[in-house]
Amino acid sequence: MPLFERDTEIYRDRDALREDYQPEELVGRDEELRTFQAALQPVINGEQPNNIFLYGKTGVGKTAASRYLLGHLREDASHYDDIHLTVVFLNCDGLTSSYQIATRLVNEFRSESNQISTTGYPLGSVYEMLWQELDDCGGTIIIVLDEIDHVNDDSILYQLPRARANGNLDAAKVGLIGISNDFSFRDDLSPKVKSSLCEQEIHFPAYNAKNLRAILEQRAKVAFREGVLSDEVIPLCAAYGAKDAGDARQSIDLLMKAGDLARDDDTDRIEEEHVKRGRRALERGRIKEGINGLTEHGHLVLYSLLTLELEDETPIRSRDVRPRYTRFTELANRDPLVPRRMRDHLSELAMLGIVSVTERNEGRRGGTYREYALDMDVGLIVSAMRDTIELVGVHETVEPFLDGDKTSTLDDFIEQ
Ligand code: ADP
Ligand code: MG
Repeated sequence: MPLFERDTEIYRDRDALREDYQPEELVGRDEELRTFQAALQPVINGEQPNNIFLYGKTGVGKTAASRYLLGHLREDASHYDDIHLTVVFLNCDGLTSSYQIATRLVNEFRSESNQISTTGYPLGSVYEMLWQELDDCGGTIIIVLDEIDHVNDDSILYQLPRARANGNLDAAKVGLIGISNDFSFRDDLSPKVKSSLCEQEIHFPAYNAKNLRAILEQRAKVAFREGVLSDEVIPLCAAYGAKDAGDARQSIDLLMKAGDLARDDDTDRIEEEHVKRGRRALERGRIKEGINGLTEHGHLVLYSLLTLELEDETPIRSRDVRPRYTRFTELANRDPLVPRRMRDHLSELAMLGIVSVTERNEGRRGGTYREYALDMDVGLIVSAMRDTIELVGVHETVEPFLDGDKTSTLDDFIEQ
């Protein structure tokens, strides 16, 4: 018997569910694609391209739409001898400043042996090098800055669209496409950036259940063997997706998780139950990530609230969490944060969905206050917080959750 055997009863092409897969057609984005396409038309006409700004929440097809249209644009432009089109696609995740973006762009145009270092030059000289590279390249250059909300300063968003008007470019016609997952990013742009970058704005709204169903059906045809999905699976994934955030990525992930669970079960059919289990598993994964990403004081605040929850003291006000928190910081040999900063951590936990918040009225005198409670499986939180529990010491309330399974980890919970 071989140790490894192909198990392909469920999937025809599992990779089609992965993040990096680009679907050949997009479903249900006709209006946005029409506007986007019209905004790119000047490229084919040999005119100065528009600057375009796309925005909407994560997973609503902004990146996919850009890849799709720019792929076609590149292909169609190649049929015109007088168009020399270059497209640069840069994801800004991990880049935080205009400086970093500018150096990355310079290097995009340079050969392997001629790259510049990402530190050490004044910003002005990096821009000079960039204008030089762009002009040397010439023709029409479309620069896509995806997830630009990661960037803290807007210098590049001003400089690039203005480069020609400011006399920095002669030969090259540059168009900037900015893509943002964050609404407030757009609102916070300075007026001068807004007027140049946002010449053409396209909003991508969240998907509803019907949109998600169409997207999932299209993807499932590529990814799964025929007859593998029972009827409820796609509608259920779509319904969850619409309820959560209207995020297609999340729904596709759920479909894949359901498929994997069915595969692990050794069945050749994906059922409703696999979707439900898959959803729990993904949720736990997100919480784990959320807790891992917290600072030490975030962990101490959560540990405090956890023990108060187990003592039936919740919902509880921030000022009543405080004594426990202060004690835990002492035990951990840390200085407690001021009350306001401690409360910020409670709000952050609420944003992550680990803690629930209730707004209450003070009575006739007016004023409101907030009460906090745990909104998550205790065992799950305990297992994600082993390090903090070790640092502070085991509070008696969490003992039952540690007993006997000292070796169990969060991953055991995720497996369930
Ligand atoms: P965004 O960039 O807005 O965060 P993406 O473009 O990355 O979202 O889309 C998330 C996932 O959903 C990708 O895998 C993408 O292929 C898929 N997707 C989004 N919209 C559609 C659509 N209209 N048709 C087909 N697949 C889509
Ligand atoms: Mg994207």
